[in-house]
This record gives sequence, C-alpha cells and structure tokens, in this order.
Amino acid sequence: MSHYKHYHVAIIGGGYAGMAAAVTLAAADIPVTVFESAKQLGGRARGVQHNDVQLDNGQHILLGCYHHTLQLIEQVGGNIKRDFLRLPLQLTLHNRFELKAPHLPAPLHLLTGLLSAKGLSFGQRLRAARFMLALGRINFTLPHDTSVFELLRRYGQDDELIRLLWEPICLSALNTPIHIASAQVLLHVLRDSLNGLRSDSDMLLPRIDFTALFPDRAADYVKRHNGAVLTACSIEAIIPHGDKIELITRPTATSSTHTKLFSHVICASSLISAARLFRTVPQLALVAEQIASIPYQPIYTVYLQYPKQVCLPHPMLGFDRCIAQWLFDKGQIAGQHGLIAAVISAQGSHQNLKHELLAQKVAQEICEQLGIMEAPLWHKVIAEKRATFSCETNLPRPSHSTPLANVLLAGDYTAGDYPATLEGAVMSGILCAKAIVETLQ
Ligand SMILES: Cc1cc2nc3c(=O)[nH]c(=O)nc-3n(C[C@H](O)[C@H](O)[C@H](O)COP(=O)(O)OP(=O)(O)OC[C@H]3O[C@@H](n4cnc5c(N)ncnc54)[C@H](O)[C@@H]3O)c2cc1C
Repeated sequence: MSHYKHYHVAIIGGGYAGMAAAVTLAAADIPVTVFESAKQLGGRARGVQHNDVQLDNGQHILLGCYHHTLQLIEQVGGNIKRDFLRLPLQLTLHNRFELKAPHLPAPLHLLTGLLSAKGLSFGQRLRAARFMLALGRINFTLPHDTSVFELLRRYGQDDELIRLLWEPICLSALNTPIHIASAQVLLHVLRDSLNGLRSDSDMLLPRIDFTALFPDRAADYVKRHNGAVLTACSIEAIIPHGDKIELITRPTATSSTHTKLFSHVICASSLISAARLFRTVPQLALVAEQIASIPYQPIYTVYLQYPKQVCLPHPMLGFDRCIAQWLFDKGQIAGQHGLIAAVISAQGSHQNLKHELLAQKVAQEICEQLGIMEAPLWHKVIAEKRATFSCETNLPRPSHSTPLANVLLAGDYTAGDYPATLEGAVMSGILCAKAIVETLQ
C-alpha cells in the first residue's frame, strides 16, 4: 500500500517523456495513471508494423552521453549491451569523408580523429581541431546565441568543411538547417557527447523497435508498482478544481466520457495537444500561446527492402550532395537482412515529392553511389511532418512549472540544454516527477 494514498498523478502522453515521469513516480511509490491517446505507446519514437515487418517511425540514434535514457531502459528491465549495436564515434560520407575516433581518452580521441580525417586538406583538419579546442576554452558557452552557420564562419570553418563535417552533425543532432539552428544548443550536444568520456561519443543503434525498447517495458514496470497505463484513451480537457485537477477523456465506442480527479497532472503530450489542452484553462492560456508558437521540422524515412544478400559497407553510412543523408543497414543492426533505411532530416525540396518518386530517387542514389544494382522488393516512406521542434536561435521554450502548481509540463520541447531528443524528453519527464516527489517530502 502506497504511503501517498491521497496523491494520484495523471500523466497525459505515453511517449518517452511521459513514461520516464511514470517510472520515476512509480519507483517513489506514488500512485500514477498514464493516459495515451494512441493504441500503442512511444509517441514519436514508436514501432510501426508494415505487413509482417517490424519498422520504426524513424531511425533513432542514442549517444553514449544519454545517461538518463540508458539508465531508465535498464531500470525497467532492458539490457543496453543486448538491446543496442554500440559503435565508437565514426562519421563516413561514402567516398568523400571519414572521421574515425581512435581508442584514446576524450577529447584526444576526437582531436586525433579530426586531424587524421580523410577527405579534408591538412589546413581544414587543423581548423576543425582548433575550433573544438576553442569551444573547450569557452566551456561550450556563448555569450549570445547565434546560428550554427555564423558560429562556424566566426571560427574559420570553410564551405567544404561545413558541408562534410559540421552540417551533417548539426542536421542529425538538431534536425534544423544550419542557417537557423541554435549554435548554443549544438554546443551543449558537442560538450556532452565529444568532451566527456570517450564512451559518451559512442553511437547506439537499437536492435529492437522503439516501443519495445522502453515504453512497453516502462508500462509493465508501472503496473507492477500498482500504477495504470491506459492506451487509446485521449484527454480532452483539464479542469482545475481547488487543489485537484479534473481530466476529461474522449468517449469511445465502448465507454462514455470519463472524468477523474487527480492531485497532480504532468502534461507530456505533443506540442499541438498541449497547446489545445492549456488554451481553455485561463491560468495556462499564456503558456498555451508560447507552445503554439514553436515551429517544427520534418524527418522522412525511406525504407527499401532489397534481396537479403544486399548490405552496406557500414551499419550507418552518409551520402554527400544526395537527397538521402544517412543510410542504416538494418541487417547489420537488427538482423533484418536487405532492409535499408534512408533518412532525410529537416525541411527541403524532398517534401514536394510523392512518396513513390522519393523512394525511386533514393534507390537510384543507392545504385549510383554504391553500385547496388538489385531493385528494391518494396518500399515504405514514413514522413513525420512534425518530427521535432525547429531548434532555432534564441527559441523561447516553456518551463516545466506552470502558473498552476499542480500542473507540470514535460516533453522534448520544454526548457533544457538539448534539442528534440529522447534524452531531452526523458530528462523533462524525470524533472517533473522529481518536482512532485519533492513537494510530498
Ligand atoms: C523520425 C524521427 C527521428 C528521430 N530521431 C531521433 C534520434 O535519432 N535521436 C533522438 O534522441 N531523438 C530523435 N527523435 C526525437 C525523439 O523521437 C523525440 O524527441 C521524443 O520521442 C519526444 O518524446 P516526447 O515524449 O517528448 O513526445 P511524444 O513522443 O510526441 O509523446 C507525446 C505522446 O502524447 C500522446 N498524446 C498527445 N495528445 C494526447 C492526449 N490529448 N491525450 C493522451 N495522449 C496524448 C501522443 O500520442 C504521444 O504518444 C526523432 C524523432 C522522429 C519523429
């Protein structure tokens, strides 16, 4: 029996932020109920079933520095060694550029990697290494935010160096074009991934889908700790009643509108939904306006199933001057032989193409770049039009606390050092849960 029987926390949204909050509260013995509008958990990091093939809504990479996410996955029963293919830092743009970090302590591994990178002149390698050293001297902190492009120019990075090294890193990390992307947020990612322990810069590619990796395990954990996780259960309204909060669920074919009172609510839903829910609560209307003004960026994933013998030279391979930015060999990563996922981050002209044509163009690039002559057996394009918030210079992000003390806000877009990432989402969920735990002590 919980010591906190007068408390009951509702969490709106069963993505990574919501489930991180739920696990943290359940571990502290606080009664919790998660409401997820979709039939499955995971939100923007979820498994997708296509015919008989298990896909994800997009390729997600975790970095070794995502300590909170990795720790929570283990807490709910995952096993990082088994669940991921772990690769030391390596960036390869096919036939054009290669950065390989040798087995040295950080940040020596990166500096040596930069100085020996293939595809750059000696001067360019030196400028890249000097840039990293200069960032270390300013502690990865800028007096004023600026665009990534401006910062790179300020530190003497030329067009080719930007195109081959910094732009792919910025697009992968911030999903935002370099001319508008926040330099300060990129520096936070570089600080934590490249300037900590060597293992912090490792790239972890999941062997299982993103719903199975954490949210489903988290739901089992919450249920084992006497909590509840309700899927296909959308919250339609938040109504404050004194020190309690009433939540109204959408009626379904089998149940009518349901209302329930909670001591606290953590809103970990999508941006759009959080803005809609907050707009009707007078105390939260200003926060709703701020949330509604946050811009988005898309991510497209083109899955191409080739005959089983087809594979890439690396589990993850970049292309230079192509529509497809990164290719993932799902055979090497997850045993799905012949399945290749091509990722296109941020806005671009590819958004105007019909999916069929986009898949054809990507297959054509794979043929031209890698000499893979076989035709794909099938394709599937997943366009996440609102994949992440657009991580722009000086973007105001809402705080976790709101003018209502018992309504908190979680999600990758809330105030924090990171761009839209699993780690940012998980950290925001943990922060909200801990804020509630503290009020009870
Ligand atoms: C294609 C793609 C690739 C990405 N790649 C990476 C990557 O490589 N590395 C990385 O770290 N991050 C990556 N990200 C970003 C990462 O997926 C997100 O930052 C993270 O999943 C956000 O989690 P969240 O819980 O904040 O939000 P969400 O995942 O959006 O969760 C919100 C949840 O709330 C639910 N909901 C909404 N409204 C309601 C309501 N009214 N009632 C109940 N439930 C509701 C939604 O269904 C959803 O499940 C990628 C994202 C995409 C789309």
